[in-house]
Amino acid sequence: METNYRPTKAIVDLSAIDHNIKLLKKRVEGAKLIAVVKADAYGHGVLQIVRQALRSGASMLAVATPDEAIHLRENGVEAELLVMGASPVRFIEVAIKHNINLTAYSMEWLEAAAEELEREVGSLKIHMKFDTGMRRIGFQPEEAEAVFGFVGQHPFSVEGLYTHFATADEAENPLFLKQVKEINTIRKKWRGKDLLFHVSNSAAAILHPELSFDAVRTGISIYGITPSAYVKKEMPFKLQQAMSLETEIVHVKKVKKGETLSYGATYMCEKDEWIATLPIGYADGLIRGLQGQEVLVQGERMPIVGRICMDQCMIRLTERFPVGEKVQLLGSQKGDTILIEDWAEKLGTIPYEIPCILTNRVPKEYT
Ligand code: PLP
Repeated sequence: METNYRPTKAIVDLSAIDHNIKLLKKRVEGAKLIAVVKADAYGHGVLQIVRQALRSGASMLAVATPDEAIHLRENGVEAELLVMGASPVRFIEVAIKHNINLTAYSMEWLEAAAEELEREVGSLKIHMKFDTGMRRIGFQPEEAEAVFGFVGQHPFSVEGLYTHFATADEAENPLFLKQVKEINTIRKKWRGKDLLFHVSNSAAAILHPELSFDAVRTGISIYGITPSAYVKKEMPFKLQQAMSLETEIVHVKKVKKGETLSYGATYMCEKDEWIATLPIGYADGLIRGLQGQEVLVQGERMPIVGRICMDQCMIRLTERFPVGEKVQLLGSQKGDTILIEDWAEKLGTIPYEIPCILTNRVPKEYT
C-alpha cells in the first residue's frame, strides 16, 4: 500500500483542466481537440487527465510512444488514440488489436509496414505526417504523390494528415508561414477518403485559430501553462495552472548573523534570520538550480536559501512560523501564485520541462 507520511504533495486541479479545454475548444470553434497526454500527461498523471479531458470535450488522445498507447488501452481507455512518434513495425499487430492509430512518417517505414501487413488480418489506421520544417520525423513534401499512391495500394486506413510547427510560439516567423503553405499544398493533392487534417499545437491554436482545420493537438495549454513568453503577451484569455506543489515546515530555528547554512556553506545570514526546513529536495524535482526561487508562506514570498539537498531545503522566513505551516512551492496561496513559468524562467528553460521533472516520490492528489 502506498503511504505518505511526508507532507509534500502535488495537487492537480481537474477543474482547471476542464476550464482550459473548454476555453481552447471555444477558441478553435468547431475543430476537434486532440488532447496531447504524452509523458504521463506532461507529468500530471495520464489516467486522471485522460478521464477529465474526455469528459471536458476532447475527441481524441495523442501520445508519443507505443508503450504509452498500450498503457492507456490496458487501463480501459477506449478513445481514439494516435502515437505521434516513430513506432517499430513489429508494433503493428498490437496497434491493430488495440485500435491504435500510428504515424506514417517515411517511405521506408511505409514499405516495411506494408510488408508486415501482409501477415496481419485487418487494416492499420495511420495519420500521415509531413515534415514541413521541423526536420524531426515526416515525409518530405515532394514525396506526397508517391506516399498517396502507395497507401492506396495497401491495407492502410488513412485517418489523418498532419504536420508540426517549429516556431508557432514566436512572433511571426517566416518558417511558420512556409510550413502552413506547404501543408496546405500537400492537403490539396490528397484524393482519398475524408481524413482528419491537423496542424496546430497549443501556440498555433491560441494565436492562429484560423488554422485549426479539423482538429488541434493541444498539450501544454490544457494543463494551464502558456507555451512561451511571446504567447503569454498575446494571450486572448487566461489559462488556469492545474498543478500545485506544497509541503509544510518541518523544522524552524534562528540562525545567527554571519553563520552559514547547507552544503558548501555558500549562504551566510546577513542578520539573525528565521530559517525553516522543508521536506522536499532535488530527488523530488526541486532541482538545485531553483536555489533562490521564492515560495509562499501565508501568501508572502520567501526565498529558498543555501544549496538544495536531495530530500530537503531551507527557506528564509520573514518571521517565525510554526512547524506544520503550509508552504506553496507552485500554485496559489492567499491571492499570490507561483507559476510553472516562474520556475522555467529561474532555470533558464521552457515551462514544458518543469512538470516533467517532478519525480514519482511526490504523490499526486486530484481535486
Ligand atoms: N503535436 C506534436 C507532434 C508534438 O510533439 C506536441 C508536443 O510537443 C504537440 C502536438 C503538443 O504541443 P503543445 O504542448 O505545445 O501544445
